[in-house]
Amino acid sequence: MRLENKKALITGALRGIGKTIADLFIAEGAEVWGLDYMTPEDLSDRVSTAKGKLHWIQLDLSKLDTVDGAIENAVKESGGFDIVVNNAGITKDNLSFRMSMEEWQKVLDINLSAAFFVARTVARDMIKKRAGSIINMASVVGIHGNGGQANYSASKAGLIGVTKSLANEVASRGVRVNAIAPGYIETDMTKVLPAEVQNKMIDVIPMKRTGKQEDVAKAALFFASDDSSYITGQVMPVDGGMYF
Ligand code: NAD
Repeated sequence: MRLENKKALITGALRGIGKTIADLFIAEGAEVWGLDYMTPEDLSDRVSTAKGKLHWIQLDLSKLDTVDGAIENAVKESGGFDIVVNNAGITKDNLSFRMSMEEWQKVLDINLSAAFFVARTVARDMIKKRAGSIINMASVVGIHGNGGQANYSASKAGLIGVTKSLANEVASRGVRVNAIAPGYIETDMTKVLPAEVQNKMIDVIPMKRTGKQEDVAKAALFFASDDSSYITGQVMPVDGGMYF
Protein backbone atom coordinates (compact mmCIF):
# COMPACT_ATOMS: atom_id res chain seq x y z
CA MET A 1 0.00 0.00 0.00
CA ARG A 2 2.44 2.64 -1.21
CA LEU A 3 -0.18 5.39 -1.68
CA GLU A 4 -2.12 5.09 1.57
CA ASN A 5 -3.97 8.36 2.42
CA LYS A 6 -2.85 9.99 -0.85
CA LYS A 7 -5.22 11.84 -3.17
CA ALA A 8 -4.52 11.51 -6.89
CA LEU A 9 -5.94 13.29 -9.93
CA ILE A 10 -5.60 11.33 -13.19
CA THR A 11 -6.61 12.85 -16.53
CA GLY A 12 -7.80 10.63 -19.38
CA ALA A 13 -8.93 7.99 -16.88
CA LEU A 14 -11.87 6.68 -18.93
CA ARG A 15 -9.84 3.94 -20.63
CA GLY A 16 -6.36 2.75 -21.59
CA ILE A 17 -3.27 3.71 -19.62
CA GLY A 18 -5.13 6.28 -17.48
CA LYS A 19 -7.71 3.71 -16.33
CA THR A 20 -4.97 1.20 -15.52
CA ILE A 21 -3.08 3.82 -13.50
CA ALA A 22 -6.29 4.69 -11.62
CA ASP A 23 -6.91 0.99 -10.79
CA LEU A 24 -3.32 0.49 -9.60
CA PHE A 25 -3.32 3.67 -7.49
CA ILE A 26 -6.61 2.62 -5.82
CA ALA A 27 -5.16 -0.85 -5.15
CA GLU A 28 -2.17 0.89 -3.52
CA GLY A 29 -4.48 2.80 -1.15
CA ALA A 30 -5.00 6.13 -2.98
CA GLU A 31 -8.27 8.03 -3.37
CA VAL A 32 -8.54 8.84 -7.07
CA TRP A 33 -10.26 11.63 -9.00
CA GLY A 34 -10.58 10.44 -12.60
CA LEU A 35 -11.01 13.18 -15.20
CA ASP A 36 -12.19 12.71 -18.76
CA TYR A 37 -14.36 14.40 -21.37
CA MET A 38 -16.94 11.65 -20.95
CA THR A 39 -18.34 9.70 -18.03
CA PRO A 40 -17.77 5.94 -18.25
CA GLU A 41 -20.91 3.83 -18.74
CA ASP A 42 -19.86 1.57 -15.88
CA LEU A 43 -19.02 4.42 -13.47
CA SER A 44 -21.26 3.20 -10.63
CA ASP A 45 -19.75 -0.33 -10.94
CA ARG A 46 -16.27 1.18 -10.86
CA VAL A 47 -17.08 3.37 -7.86
CA SER A 48 -18.57 0.45 -5.93
CA THR A 49 -15.60 -1.84 -6.78
CA ALA A 50 -13.28 0.95 -5.64
CA LYS A 51 -15.29 1.16 -2.39
CA GLY A 52 -15.90 4.89 -2.74
CA LYS A 53 -12.24 5.64 -3.52
CA LEU A 54 -13.03 6.79 -7.08
CA HIS A 55 -14.58 10.17 -7.94
CA TRP A 56 -15.30 11.49 -11.41
CA ILE A 57 -14.76 14.88 -13.05
CA GLN A 58 -16.22 15.43 -16.51
CA LEU A 59 -14.13 17.99 -18.39
CA ASP A 60 -13.16 18.46 -22.03
CA LEU A 61 -9.50 19.47 -21.86
CA SER A 62 -9.66 20.92 -25.38
CA LYS A 63 -11.76 23.79 -23.96
CA LEU A 64 -8.67 25.53 -22.69
CA ASP A 65 -10.38 28.53 -21.12
CA THR A 66 -12.28 26.22 -18.71
CA VAL A 67 -9.31 24.18 -17.50
CA ASP A 68 -7.84 26.48 -14.81
CA GLY A 69 -11.25 27.08 -13.17
CA ALA A 70 -12.28 23.41 -13.23
CA ILE A 71 -8.99 22.27 -11.71
CA GLU A 72 -9.12 25.03 -9.06
CA ASN A 73 -12.60 23.70 -8.09
CA ALA A 74 -11.32 20.13 -8.01
CA VAL A 75 -8.46 21.19 -5.72
CA LYS A 76 -10.93 22.92 -3.39
CA GLU A 77 -13.47 20.09 -3.35
CA SER A 78 -10.88 17.33 -2.84
CA GLY A 79 -8.89 19.27 -0.27
CA GLY A 80 -5.87 19.21 -2.60
CA PHE A 81 -4.02 16.50 -4.52
CA ASP A 82 -0.80 14.76 -3.53
CA ILE A 83 -0.35 13.22 -6.99
CA VAL A 84 -1.41 14.39 -10.44
CA VAL A 85 -1.00 12.35 -13.63
CA ASN A 86 -1.39 14.36 -16.82
CA ASN A 87 -2.26 11.36 -18.96
CA ALA A 88 -5.00 12.52 -21.38
CA GLY A 89 -3.74 12.65 -24.93
CA ILE A 90 -4.83 12.30 -28.54
CA THR A 91 -3.28 11.70 -31.95
CA LYS A 92 -4.28 13.21 -35.29
CA ASP A 93 -1.59 11.77 -37.55
CA ASN A 94 -0.78 13.14 -40.98
CA LEU A 95 2.27 13.91 -43.08
CA SER A 96 3.57 17.40 -42.35
CA PHE A 97 2.70 18.79 -45.79
CA ARG A 98 -0.89 17.55 -45.50
CA MET A 99 -1.47 18.45 -41.86
CA SER A 100 -4.37 20.85 -41.33
CA MET A 101 -4.32 23.73 -38.86
CA GLU A 102 -7.04 21.88 -36.87
CA GLU A 103 -4.98 18.65 -36.69
CA TRP A 104 -1.98 20.62 -35.48
CA GLN A 105 -3.81 22.83 -32.98
CA LYS A 106 -6.10 20.25 -31.33
CA VAL A 107 -3.20 17.92 -30.50
CA LEU A 108 -1.13 20.79 -29.09
CA ASP A 109 -4.13 22.07 -27.09
CA ILE A 110 -4.94 18.78 -25.35
CA ASN A 111 -1.52 17.13 -25.06
CA LEU A 112 0.53 20.21 -24.17
CA SER A 113 -1.43 23.36 -23.25
CA ALA A 114 -4.09 21.64 -21.10
CA ALA A 115 -1.44 19.51 -19.37
CA PHE A 116 0.55 22.66 -18.56
CA PHE A 117 -2.53 24.45 -17.16
CA VAL A 118 -3.42 21.42 -15.00
CA ALA A 119 0.18 21.09 -13.75
CA ARG A 120 0.66 24.71 -12.77
CA THR A 121 -2.76 24.95 -11.11
CA VAL A 122 -2.17 21.90 -8.91
CA ALA A 123 1.46 22.92 -8.28
CA ARG A 124 0.24 26.22 -6.81
CA ASP A 125 -1.61 24.25 -4.11
CA MET A 126 1.15 21.65 -3.67
CA ILE A 127 3.84 24.24 -2.92
CA LYS A 128 1.72 25.54 -0.03
CA LYS A 129 1.86 22.04 1.47
CA ARG A 130 5.51 21.57 0.48
CA ALA A 131 4.74 18.19 -1.06
CA GLY A 132 3.42 16.69 -4.27
CA SER A 133 4.27 14.66 -7.35
CA ILE A 134 3.23 15.61 -10.88
CA ILE A 135 3.65 13.02 -13.63
CA ASN A 136 3.36 13.98 -17.30
CA MET A 137 2.68 11.31 -19.91
CA ALA A 138 5.08 12.11 -22.76
CA SER A 139 6.15 9.59 -25.42
CA VAL A 140 9.30 8.21 -27.03
CA VAL A 141 8.35 10.20 -30.14
CA GLY A 142 8.74 13.39 -28.08
CA ILE A 143 12.42 12.42 -27.84
CA HIS A 144 13.05 10.91 -31.30
CA GLY A 145 10.28 12.37 -33.52
CA ASN A 146 8.23 10.21 -35.89
CA GLY A 147 7.15 10.61 -39.52
CA GLY A 148 3.44 11.48 -39.75
CA GLN A 149 3.36 12.75 -36.17
CA ALA A 150 4.89 16.26 -36.24
CA ASN A 151 1.97 17.58 -34.14
CA TYR A 152 2.03 14.71 -31.61
CA SER A 153 5.86 14.66 -31.36
CA ALA A 154 5.92 18.45 -30.85
CA SER A 155 3.28 18.19 -28.11
CA LYS A 156 5.20 15.45 -26.26
CA ALA A 157 8.60 17.19 -26.71
CA GLY A 158 6.92 20.33 -25.34
CA LEU A 159 5.59 18.38 -22.39
CA ILE A 160 9.13 17.20 -21.60
CA GLY A 161 10.19 20.87 -21.66
CA VAL A 162 7.34 21.78 -19.30
CA THR A 163 8.34 18.89 -17.01
CA LYS A 164 11.94 20.04 -16.70
CA SER A 165 11.10 23.76 -16.37
CA LEU A 166 8.34 23.35 -13.78
CA ALA A 167 10.46 20.81 -11.86
CA ASN A 168 13.16 23.45 -11.60
CA GLU A 169 10.70 26.12 -10.37
CA VAL A 170 9.08 24.01 -7.63
CA ALA A 171 11.85 21.65 -6.47
CA SER A 172 12.86 23.76 -3.48
CA ARG A 173 9.21 23.72 -2.28
CA GLY A 174 9.06 19.93 -2.04
CA VAL A 175 7.15 19.34 -5.31
CA ARG A 176 8.48 16.89 -7.90
CA VAL A 177 7.66 16.86 -11.63
CA ASN A 178 8.63 13.92 -13.84
CA ALA A 179 7.63 12.47 -17.19
CA ILE A 180 7.11 8.98 -18.56
CA ALA A 181 7.90 8.28 -22.21
CA PRO A 182 6.02 5.13 -23.23
CA GLY A 183 7.03 3.33 -26.41
CA TYR A 184 4.50 1.12 -28.14
CA ILE A 185 1.80 0.17 -25.61
CA GLU A 186 -1.31 -1.90 -26.42
CA THR A 187 -4.29 0.48 -26.11
CA ASP A 188 -7.18 1.86 -28.21
CA MET A 189 -4.75 4.54 -29.45
CA THR A 190 -2.40 1.98 -31.04
CA LYS A 191 -4.81 -0.76 -32.08
CA VAL A 192 -6.11 1.45 -34.92
CA LEU A 193 -2.67 1.39 -36.59
CA PRO A 194 -2.41 -0.74 -39.75
CA ALA A 195 -0.81 -4.21 -39.16
CA GLU A 196 2.27 -3.32 -41.24
CA VAL A 197 2.93 -0.21 -39.10
CA GLN A 198 2.50 -2.31 -35.92
CA ASN A 199 4.98 -4.94 -37.22
CA LYS A 200 7.48 -2.24 -38.23
CA MET A 201 7.32 -0.81 -34.71
CA ILE A 202 7.88 -4.23 -33.11
CA ASP A 203 10.98 -4.60 -35.35
CA VAL A 204 12.67 -1.65 -33.60
CA ILE A 205 11.88 -2.93 -30.08
CA PRO A 206 14.80 -5.04 -28.83
CA MET A 207 12.38 -6.93 -26.53
CA LYS A 208 10.35 -7.80 -29.67
CA ARG A 209 6.98 -7.20 -28.05
CA THR A 210 4.59 -4.37 -27.30
CA GLY A 211 4.31 -2.97 -23.78
CA LYS A 212 1.34 -3.47 -21.48
CA GLN A 213 -0.64 -0.71 -19.81
CA GLU A 214 0.51 -2.13 -16.45
CA ASP A 215 4.16 -1.50 -17.44
CA VAL A 216 3.39 2.23 -17.70
CA ALA A 217 1.19 2.23 -14.58
CA LYS A 218 4.06 0.78 -12.52
CA ALA A 219 6.37 3.59 -13.67
CA ALA A 220 3.66 6.09 -12.64
CA LEU A 221 3.43 4.39 -9.23
CA PHE A 222 7.20 4.76 -8.81
CA PHE A 223 7.06 8.51 -9.52
CA ALA A 224 3.93 8.92 -7.37
CA SER A 225 5.37 7.15 -4.33
CA ASP A 226 8.14 8.08 -1.92
CA ASP A 227 10.35 5.49 -3.67
CA SER A 228 11.33 8.34 -6.04
CA SER A 229 11.55 11.08 -3.39
CA TYR A 230 14.96 12.37 -4.65
CA ILE A 231 14.06 12.28 -8.36
CA THR A 232 12.66 15.26 -10.25
CA GLY A 233 12.81 16.73 -13.77
CA GLN A 234 13.41 13.27 -15.29
CA VAL A 235 11.96 11.38 -18.23
CA MET A 236 11.61 7.62 -17.85
CA PRO A 237 11.22 5.64 -21.08
CA VAL A 238 8.98 2.56 -20.81
CA ASP A 239 9.69 1.18 -24.26
CA GLY A 240 11.35 -2.25 -24.25
CA GLY A 241 14.65 -0.61 -25.24
CA MET A 242 13.14 0.96 -28.39
CA TYR A 243 15.43 2.90 -30.71
CA PHE A 244 14.86 4.72 -33.99
P1 NAD B 1 -6.39 6.26 -25.11
O1 NAD B 1 -6.85 6.92 -26.37
O2 NAD B 1 -6.73 4.83 -24.89
O3 NAD B 1 -6.85 7.10 -23.83
C1 NAD B 1 -6.71 8.51 -23.79
C2 NAD B 1 -7.65 9.05 -22.74
O4 NAD B 1 -7.62 10.49 -22.81
C3 NAD B 1 -9.09 8.59 -22.96
O5 NAD B 1 -9.67 8.21 -21.74
C4 NAD B 1 -9.73 9.82 -23.56
O6 NAD B 1 -11.13 9.89 -23.34
C5 NAD B 1 -8.98 10.94 -22.84
N1 NAD B 1 -9.11 12.21 -23.55
C6 NAD B 1 -8.90 12.43 -24.88
N2 NAD B 1 -9.23 13.69 -25.19
C7 NAD B 1 -9.65 14.28 -24.05
C8 NAD B 1 -10.14 15.58 -23.75
N3 NAD B 1 -10.30 16.52 -24.69
N4 NAD B 1 -10.49 15.86 -22.48
C9 NAD B 1 -10.38 14.93 -21.50
N5 NAD B 1 -9.93 13.66 -21.74
C10 NAD B 1 -9.57 13.36 -23.00
O7 NAD B 1 -4.81 6.48 -25.08
P2 NAD B 1 -3.66 5.71 -24.29
O8 NAD B 1 -2.95 4.89 -25.29
O9 NAD B 1 -4.15 5.10 -23.03
O10 NAD B 1 -2.70 6.96 -23.97
C11 NAD B 1 -2.63 7.60 -22.72
C12 NAD B 1 -1.46 8.58 -22.76
O11 NAD B 1 -0.25 7.88 -23.04
C13 NAD B 1 -1.61 9.65 -23.85
O12 NAD B 1 -1.11 10.88 -23.40
C14 NAD B 1 -0.71 9.11 -24.95
O13 NAD B 1 -0.24 10.13 -25.80
C15 NAD B 1 0.40 8.46 -24.15
N6 NAD B 1 1.15 7.45 -24.90
C16 NAD B 1 0.54 6.30 -25.33
C17 NAD B 1 1.30 5.37 -26.04
C18 NAD B 1 0.71 4.08 -26.55
O14 NAD B 1 1.45 3.32 -27.20
N7 NAD B 1 -0.54 3.77 -26.29
C19 NAD B 1 2.65 5.62 -26.31
C20 NAD B 1 3.21 6.80 -25.85
C21 NAD B 1 2.46 7.71 -25.14
